[in-house]
Amino acid sequence: MSRDECSRERRSIPLISPFCSRPEPRASTPTCSGPRAEQARRRWPSLARQMVAALCALSMLGVSACGGGGGGSGKKDEGDFVAEWDPGATGLARALQREELFEDLADALNDGFKLPRDLPIVHTSCGEENAFYDPRQGALLMCYELLDLVTSISLQLAEDEEEAAQRAIGTWTFIFFHELGHGLADLYELPLTGGEEDAVDDFSTLLMIEADLVQEVAYAADFWLETDPGLVDASQFADEHSLNQQRFYNMLCLIYGSDPNRFDILVSGGHLPESRAVRCPGEYEQKLKAWETLLKPWSKE
Ligand SMILES: [Zn+2]
Repeated sequence: MSRDECSRERRSIPLISPFCSRPEPRASTPTCSGPRAEQARRRWPSLARQMVAALCALSMLGVSACGGGGGGSGKKDEGDFVAEWDPGATGLARALQREELFEDLADALNDGFKLPRDLPIVHTSCGEENAFYDPRQGALLMCYELLDLVTSISLQLAEDEEEAAQRAIGTWTFIFFHELGHGLADLYELPLTGGEEDAVDDFSTLLMIEADLVQEVAYAADFWLETDPGLVDASQFADEHSLNQQRFYNMLCLIYGSDPNRFDILVSGGHLPESRAVRCPGEYEQKLKAWETLLKPWSKE
């Protein structure tokens, strides 16, 4: 099935909804303002709290996924993850700040991982829709402008305000873990092979799968497909990132590969081609093992 034949449904990963069963896109596109956005905002605090509960399982990732035993590696713990908020938070950013989602997330990461120095997680105004690890500053920068875009697209894609909130928070969490992957690759001097952008997409996807935030990471995959520029030119082919559609399929492959029986609908529904799907359980095992091996020396347990 081509993207044109079922574009909206194809964006919606059917872990909950059946394929091609969703209504046509609305004539009016919701934005960050208006009554529907207001309803979504009311759901953000409680959704954020639920996410915190799930994400706190991440402290387990440093222990269980890394297999334990890292405590004797000789790596010293000389820093902490520290959440910081610059002025200017509005909308979802304000809700996340109020709910202290990233403070709790930093605590969970501090429970799981040693750091050679502090790693600030800074929400800030950047003047562009972006999020990135800045090696000179030694900080993860999460831009309010990109969060506004994530919120706007989540409202466009969602059927109701609860789903909009889950999409926005899930996508933002994915983006944060992607940037965290860059930060850890630098601080730990990880010997990555292949493209770092692909590797940290894998890292983020695996973290969310292991925290059982599978629907949320599927929503993040939707975000990449939705923001696909369509026609690509040399600059996109030359970019350090894979094409958005490739990022989408790579994420789906890891989800499917983590439990082919549970996520069979990704293949039977036509979202993930069978030709790729047969490789996905092996890809999942290989990538999980690779990240376990890389992170094990820095695990606190
Ligand atoms: Zn990146």
